[in-house]
Amino acid sequence: MTFESLGLHASILKALTDAGYTEPTAVQQQAVPAAIEGRDLLVSSQTGSGKTAAFMLPSLHKFASQESAPVGSKTPNQERQAARARGDRPRFQPAQPKMLVLTPTRELALQVTTATEKYGAHMRRVKAVSILGGMPYPKQMQLLSRNPEILVATPGRLIDHMESGKIDFSQLQILVLDEADRMLDMGFIEDIEKIVAATPETRQTMLFSATLDGVVGSMARRITREPQVIQI
Ligand code: AMP
Repeated sequence: MTFESLGLHASILKALTDAGYTEPTAVQQQAVPAAIEGRDLLVSSQTGSGKTAAFMLPSLHKFASQESAPVGSKTPNQERQAARARGDRPRFQPAQPKMLVLTPTRELALQVTTATEKYGAHMRRVKAVSILGGMPYPKQMQLLSRNPEILVATPGRLIDHMESGKIDFSQLQILVLDEADRMLDMGFIEDIEKIVAATPETRQTMLFSATLDGVVGSMARRITREPQVIQI
């Protein structure tokens, strides 16, 4: 099987060629077409299986397809620039991400952000930032003020920003829970429930976990709709 046959956007195929990927891994072969169709996913797979690309490629594909907006229409970021150019008084505007990836650790969040930059390298605009515990607050405010399309975050720090009104999830299209079982083991269940409740019900949800049994399985079923279940 090839990446072309998965129906991915040309700019993403180019980035995959640059990365030296020749064919999709097993989890990518199953997850990418279902996610492109808009299905929710419950995936049991291990680190090293290529799961990051399994959720990021179809998400970037969706955003690439949305890039061709009608002539004359402005993206939210163009609106912000235009307001600044008009000399409108700067006022605080919360970030309005289109995609949120929750991860258990800083290290994993940074890996996901780096992978996103690689896969999105040929897209017109797709900015991913990590929001992590331990990172200086002013630096995070500066990252959020650029209104990134994609936020990659550990749950605790994200809650702080949500509760202080720095993030508005009304435009969120895609929610990913990466290594969900580890997030639950680390005691993040209440934070996750609070974050999920702040996102639109119309979102697409993809959950990745080593296991889909027990507590993680019941949470997974609560937050997804008719998910495609993929076991690798
Ligand atoms: P992950 O499971 O997402 O942590 O990915 C594990 C490693 O596999 C990362 O170094 C990826 O860059 C790499 N990788 C992911 N998909 C592919 C692919 N289709 N072909 C070759 N390498 C890949």
